[in-house]
Amino acid sequence: MPALEVLVVGGGVIGAATAYALARRGRRVLLLEQFTIGHARGSSHGLSRSISSVHSRLHHMRLVAAARQAWRRLEDDSGQRLLIKTGVLDIGHADSPAIQASIAHLGAVDEEVEILGLYELRARFPQLALTDKTIAIYQPEGGILPASRCVATLVEQARRYGAKVAVGVRVSRIKPEGSGVRVDADGTVYWAQRAVIAAGSYSSVLLQHLDVAVDLSTTCEQVAFFSPRHRVLSKLGYLPVVRDYGHHPGDHLLVCYPDLGEGIKVERHGAGIPVADPYEPPPIPDPAENERIAQRLAQTMPGFANQVLYAETCRFTHTPDGDFVIDTHPEYNQILIAIPGSSCGFSVAPIVGEILSDLAMHGTTSYDIAPFRLARLHRIG
Ligand SMILES: Cc1cc2nc3c(=O)[nH]c(=O)nc-3n(C[C@H](O)[C@H](O)[C@H](O)COP(=O)(O)OP(=O)(O)OC[C@H]3O[C@@H](n4cnc5c(N)ncnc54)[C@H](O)[C@@H]3O)c2cc1C
Repeated sequence: MPALEVLVVGGGVIGAATAYALARRGRRVLLLEQFTIGHARGSSHGLSRSISSVHSRLHHMRLVAAARQAWRRLEDDSGQRLLIKTGVLDIGHADSPAIQASIAHLGAVDEEVEILGLYELRARFPQLALTDKTIAIYQPEGGILPASRCVATLVEQARRYGAKVAVGVRVSRIKPEGSGVRVDADGTVYWAQRAVIAAGSYSSVLLQHLDVAVDLSTTCEQVAFFSPRHRVLSKLGYLPVVRDYGHHPGDHLLVCYPDLGEGIKVERHGAGIPVADPYEPPPIPDPAENERIAQRLAQTMPGFANQVLYAETCRFTHTPDGDFVIDTHPEYNQILIAIPGSSCGFSVAPIVGEILSDLAMHGTTSYDIAPFRLARLHRIG
């Protein structure tokens, strides 16, 4: 039996949360990251991610609500403040399918949520452009997770509980051997009882050797920071995270964050460019996309932003149905796979880490992972 209990591949938020959950439960765990913790060639770097349990998929609402408690436990454990409460406001056309689906699930989790009509919206958020068809859902408990700092804290705490972490080590192959695994990485062979693949946009490279045929695709999304025109109205306490689903079919989701000192951060989700090879370096941000983001922001909050301060990129990994994979390998239950392929993947990380830790230790978990099973996507042969 190998002395190493679990080897985690990937030092993004999911791998870090898994290593933390396992180490905290006293397991001997090794985390291998091919670049550095916090690097910019994956999905978990940057200033912020939003957290809100308002979601069009009921199982995500439940997962985010549980994750909020898990982030609080990490805060207590680490002494770091990680959840920045700003409120999260979802707005869009009253007929928007995403908004309608979210409204249908309200009440399913025990968290305060308000549906705001035009009068209240105008009074509370004068920044917003509204039409008589605008509808909004506001979650006061929603907010921001400082992304890179969260990952660093998870890694730091995993180490504190005894996890080993090695960076600059690329895993080339994971092979089931008896009831354990053999992991080849940069000329070194590791043996472990279990392996967790938390490789984000690089997952396919490892899964192809394990006969897991899932159509994953990756896009590189652009994020732009703007100097605020209204200094006060863009600050924490005045501006919540705004997620605008738009008023027209085909509108990309626009996500706008309050100014935390680096300007107003704005993203157009799903507008990214395809990434054919995960090892190709990230592209230089495109000024034309900054312009498109600015135009869309002007529709949501007219005259709110000045010029672009800077832009950066980040990767989305897409599963065919846009939902996560959190499961054991269909044949080898000593290999676990996690791909949080949707836009709330960061916020649920500490719960995903606990689920993977349960699966690695006991082969089962009390969380309902039926919606995340690989079988729904996996093609045999
Ligand atoms: C623009 C944008 C906005 C987003 N907004 C939100 C939001 O508001 N709220 C939210 O909850 N989520 C959001 N997300 C999604 C969220 O950030 C991701 O779902 C999450 O960060 C994915 O984490 P991960 O650990 O799976 O992947 P990654 O962060 O990519 O981590 C995978 C790691 O594995 C390493 N790795 C891969 N292969 C190997 C190998 N062979 N050997 C060693 N190491 C390896 C990689 O180098 C990488 O560090 C957003 C994403 C983007 C791009």
